[in-house]
Amino acid sequence: MTASNPTEPLPLGAPTPHRSVSVVIPVLNEADGIAPLLARLIPALDGLNLRWSIVFVDDGSTDATLLRLRQLNDKDPRITAIALSRNFGKEIAVAAGLRYAQGDAVVIMDSDLQHPPETITSFIAKWNEGHDVVFGMRVDRSADSAWRRQGARLFYSVFHALSGTELQQNSCDFRLLSRRAVDAINKIGERVRYNNGLFAWIGFPSIGVPFEMQPRATGEASRWLPLKLARLAFDGLASFSTVPLRISSVFGLVVSIVAFIYMIWVMTKTLMFGDPVRGYPTLLVAVLFFAGVQLIFLGLLGEYLGRVYEEVKARPLFLVREELGVPPPAHQTPARSETALK
Ligand code: UDP
Ligand code: MG
Repeated sequence: MTASNPTEPLPLGAPTPHRSVSVVIPVLNEADGIAPLLARLIPALDGLNLRWSIVFVDDGSTDATLLRLRQLNDKDPRITAIALSRNFGKEIAVAAGLRYAQGDAVVIMDSDLQHPPETITSFIAKWNEGHDVVFGMRVDRSADSAWRRQGARLFYSVFHALSGTELQQNSCDFRLLSRRAVDAINKIGERVRYNNGLFAWIGFPSIGVPFEMQPRATGEASRWLPLKLARLAFDGLASFSTVPLRISSVFGLVVSIVAFIYMIWVMTKTLMFGDPVRGYPTLLVAVLFFAGVQLIFLGLLGEYLGRVYEEVKARPLFLVREELGVPPPAHQTPARSETALK
């Protein structure tokens, strides 16, 4: 079913110019990057034989990005934008763009030309074949540093092992979603968001299209500092798995059993051979070790509790400061509190 075109529901897989595609692009301080991006993106979209529109999501830029977007929208109404009230981070910016995008298919891409716009043609071809999710597969990660590549590989395997949701290896958030896939994503009201996980979680027929990741066209190399990436990885894991919580219980149990056996041994030894008042180092080490273990697992509990708190507050996922040429989305964040309080 097409949400933007309710009068003419099209069977999936029908290649027809009646269909439309929206491109969602999160931007943070990309004033200089937008023009070179459009210089390649617009010809690529014009070649598709589809109606198209672009939804930029200004994620609280502090440079001239919003100004540029206003000028562009004045000139070409197909170039639309929303400006978030502050920087919410890329994951949420993408979620916001998906709420506003009206196309029968929606492409998500970065603004820095690391995702070649020409690949969209192959995405659309796969969509016309009936696939709901077409994700870009990076054939070459040499643009990334070695630690980042290894880190990504490790993360994908740990994620699969713990959550049971399989992320596509080398997939990234350069992808196309069909209307029903977008609607599914829009129904997910989670505030701590890990898009890659959500895209895999919704299911639907999916297929990968290989593409070569380009070096960043303008601006600094990558704004994902190691710490921020680690944060994203943990958010992803924690929102898809409670296994880390269980690990802590199992680990605690094992440590307690070992400590109990040790206690029996110490008591027997003391009863049989007396107490020569030694063992101060052992005592200290044990106290420190267990204090550490307890703090780690308290912290782990806190992480999950913090997430529960975030969700229970039921704040809107994002706030919009300005809408440029896009009507507000039909459905807003599902208000958890309304159903929960009944
Ligand atoms: N971005 C954003 N909000 C942020 C960080 C980044 O909207 O808080 C946008 C940025 O403008 C770009 C895309 O997300 O279009 C990817 O960002 P970047 O190139 O810095 O990250 P990487 O390529 O390393 O994933
Ligand atoms: Mg980039």
